[in-house]
Amino acid sequence: MLFAHDTECGLVAAAGLVNTDGPDQELLPDVAALDRFITTHGWTGRHEHTDAELREVRALRSRLRRIWYADTDEVVAIVNGLLRESHALPQLIRHDDEPYHVHAVPRDAPLATRMAVEAAMALADLVRTGELRRLRICDHPDCDNVLVDLSKNRSRRFCDAGCGNRAAVSAYRARKAASHS
Ligand SMILES: [Zn+2]
Ligand SMILES: [Zn+2]
Repeated sequence: MLFAHDTECGLVAAAGLVNTDGPDQELLPDVAALDRFITTHGWTGRHEHTDAELREVRALRSRLRRIWYADTDEVVAIVNGLLRESHALPQLIRHDDEPYHVHAVPRDAPLATRMAVEAAMALADLVRTGELRRLRICDHPDCDNVLVDLSKNRSRRFCDAGCGNRAAVSAYRARKAASHS
């Protein structure tokens, strides 16, 4: 493990959230889709299942996406802004079956606030360890999904949406076409 468990989960969840805002597809079209998303990423605590909550979560995405394109000083400004607005106060807590980890807002804070703060805390770790390069955009030419490279040798190139396979298939076809010409 490169970072603390909650840092890695926070980064993966933030990237997952950003990627629900596809260029031609809204992957959080309704409350049910948000329910599935938070189950996938293990979110517990307050969850209202309302359109207002859904709107707040969706609105967070473009702000988080900017982080993937920003330089260090801009990332710091965004992260500090998110923490300040949310009145973040880091506390070690234990809940469900998890070991002690840090929450910087209470579990009954709105979902979008908790998502923002968890992302910001995880990003703060990346800044402190000089590892912002681990935030990448998918290498597939048709994809602008964001990803977090948590591999040891920083070798991850593609997002989770099957782009690695797609790229391998195109490379295979290209080789085959070349060998037949
Ligand atoms: Zn927790
Ligand atoms: Zn991709």
